[in-house]
Amino acid sequence: ELVNINELFNYVLNRFDMILKKDDHPEKTYKIKRYFTKRDLWVDLDTDRFTQVLDNLMNNAIKYSPDGGAITCRLYETRNKVILSISDQGLGIPRKDIPHIFDRFYRVDKARSRQQGGSGLGLAISKEVVEALHGQLWAESVEGKGSTFYIALPYEPLEEEDLWDEV
Ligand code: ATP
Ligand code: MG
Repeated sequence: ELVNINELFNYVLNRFDMILKKDDHPEKTYKIKRYFTKRDLWVDLDTDRFTQVLDNLMNNAIKYSPDGGAITCRLYETRNKVILSISDQGLGIPRKDIPHIFDRFYRVDKARSRQQGGSGLGLAISKEVVEALHGQLWAESVEGKGSTFYIALPYEPLEEEDLWDEV
């Protein structure tokens, strides 16, 4: 289905804003920042599956960064792609582990990860969903500074004649 990705991304982030809000401890509330293009971008995808991908990336950003950290989300278009990114100010990922984090059951720090909970499947499933859409999912990270996860999806801008009814 053709989905307005600005709306979908905003919807997911609004839900996280509500869940994360700590009225008694504002300094401990994650700050979700949004830098979105004002243009509406329509992408062909399955809303439920893609929402699951965004949930996974947001849950990781929260799980692997300190309370009150900033999570910066971006949405923009390039010539033939839509790019979504989610950046945290967390633990980061050692360079040698980055190529493996999308493998099933791979977790960087076994002890820490076990304590954090989870199965190590989130990124593997997310990559499958994104690649089924002919897109890419990848990470950039600096240990001790934070991580950014990027999703690129194929995108064809709507032609003028698609936007208007001929009468
Ligand atoms: P779950 O199945 O619940 O998602 P998980 O979060 O451990 O478990 P993945 O989401 O697949 O599994 O992530 C794999 C590993 O990559 C994590 O265990 C963690 O070590 C590392 N990782 C993922 N996202 C981040 C992040 N934003 N910052 C630091 N490390 C991360
Ligand atoms: Mg995860």
